[in-house]
Amino acid sequence: MKALVKTESAVGLKLEDVELPTLGSDDILIKVQKTAICGTDLHIWNWDTWASNTIKTPMTIGHEFMGEVHELGANVQNFDVGDRVSAESHITGLNSRNAKAGKLHLDPDTVNIGVDRDGAFAEFIKVPAKNVIKLPDSIPDEIGAILDPFGNAVHATLSFDLVGEDVLVTGAGPIGIMSAAIAKHVGARNVLLTDINDNRLKLAKKVCDVETLNPLKEDLKAKMTEMGLKEGFDVGLEMSGSEQAIDQMMGAMIMGGNISLLGLPSDKIKFDLSKAIFKALNLKAIYGREIFETWYKGMALIDSGLNIENIITHKFHYSDFAEAFDLLNSGKAGKVILDWN
Ligand code: ZN
Repeated sequence: MKALVKTESAVGLKLEDVELPTLGSDDILIKVQKTAICGTDLHIWNWDTWASNTIKTPMTIGHEFMGEVHELGANVQNFDVGDRVSAESHITGLNSRNAKAGKLHLDPDTVNIGVDRDGAFAEFIKVPAKNVIKLPDSIPDEIGAILDPFGNAVHATLSFDLVGEDVLVTGAGPIGIMSAAIAKHVGARNVLLTDINDNRLKLAKKVCDVETLNPLKEDLKAKMTEMGLKEGFDVGLEMSGSEQAIDQMMGAMIMGGNISLLGLPSDKIKFDLSKAIFKALNLKAIYGREIFETWYKGMALIDSGLNIENIITHKFHYSDFAEAFDLLNSGKAGKVILDWN
């Protein structure tokens, strides 16, 4: 089968012919139909410090996908050949304290699809059945391929009560934009999304009806006054990993406000902890999804009318992968889909 493989310690990926995965008795073999490119995949393409320290070559990468059940392992029940499916990319263990307590998303032995084991940028992928999610008819194929990053947004955004609250989202990458859309959908009063890239703010306006601000050009305090915010934002969703954005968010929060931190800084950053303490802020770091509860909530949000389709800005056939990665590196795209049909 065809697969996009990191074959050697260098920038880029190669389209290779590789063996079909051998199916274990608890696995499902999925015929991949649509995949999406994640920031993680871009790190691996660019072969930065994180990627070169993490990825063991050869590795088929990619973890955001949907497809059709092609073959079932001997022990697998509750699925049929032909089912439309996606999958949770974090494969958790069973032995740690957290896993045994049912807190699967906190299992330190988690293995990541497309990072630690062969991924979805291929014609077929094998996934343990416990990680496979059936897609309802209400979820189109391309949305099915981005439920994994959408789940990050769902986890970060629904960590705090948002009904009637004023929400600041810093960082308008796809997860930031989807988070702003979720906050608005579930009943936040004001949602302000900030980014220093105007293209991203323009894309946000196509996905959801939220206020936007470029902090290099406009004053946040003036915007807050204009929005009628006297004491600050109740909830902060930090999606940029930028030192300046984090600092600005800390300054703009209400006393006792809640912050989800999801954006990954590229290096160690300076952080004014005393500001957080004197404001009695509640900071929550977000990693991945709360696995199946997040998938349930995310699909329910889409079922209840949340429309994130415009976050997908470009579609390519998998053979044009180089063009797709170049586009993403240019910063001019939202979610980019690779079609494997
Ligand atoms: Zn991802």
